[in-house]
Amino acid sequence: MKKTTQLYEGKAKKVFLTEDSNLVIQEFKDDATAFNNKKKGTIADKGVVNNAISCKLFTLLEHEGIHTHLVEKLSDRDMLCRHLDIIKVEVVVRNIAAGSLVKRYGFAEGTVLAKPIVEFYLKDDDLDDPLMNESHAVALGVATLEELSVLKNRAEAINAVLKKFFADRKLKLVDFKLEFGRHNGEILLGDEISPDTCRLWDLETNEKLDKDRFRFDLGGVEDAYSEVQRRVLELD
Ligand code: UDP
Repeated sequence: MKKTTQLYEGKAKKVFLTEDSNLVIQEFKDDATAFNNKKKGTIADKGVVNNAISCKLFTLLEHEGIHTHLVEKLSDRDMLCRHLDIIKVEVVVRNIAAGSLVKRYGFAEGTVLAKPIVEFYLKDDDLDDPLMNESHAVALGVATLEELSVLKNRAEAINAVLKKFFADRKLKLVDFKLEFGRHNGEILLGDEISPDTCRLWDLETNEKLDKDRFRFDLGGVEDAYSEVQRRVLELD
């Protein structure tokens, strides 16, 4: 399958149309952004690493009966995907307090939550992706109540699968962000799951092995991404 016209260029990926209107190709870039584009940089080979990790995790989820947009990994940086009508809701799942949960509600970082928290954010860079509840999402027309309920249940099911998968690889799944889209009357998981979109801490040392190393200039960014890739892909 070949790329035709570029449909979209995002912060970390480009999306291309193909000869088949049902399929698109996601090309993973090395560009990194944080704090809604205020911090910019590149992480060497991040695109290759994130494509490999995402393909592996989407395949795992498919085996667990969770439908995703993945068709196949085409090359180092290219993922062949079903063409989704993206739902403008970012779904965040949290197992351990970090990031905006600490800032907004005063949790101590690292507090293990009694029950996972699922949050919805409006996917809109111009508005800084504001936190929203179901009423906001319905009023904005971005999703129906039924769809939001599917998103929440799907996010919880994905969390259960991923939490165990990462724990088996000595990683704590602190929190992560998911995006979904509509395709032929079904809701599929889209986008990517990678150290760009998850917080992952070493199970024993709590060392951060994710984009927080880039966000907060902690150093060792590339090494952290390749360590996650090694644990995800090689420890089978
Ligand atoms: N996240 C993401 N994209 C976003 C916002 C958040 O992938 O636009 C991920 C982030 O990497 C983390 C989780 O969602 O794993 C929760 O992020 P949080 O709300 O704490 O925001 P942050 O502190 O990352 O801005």
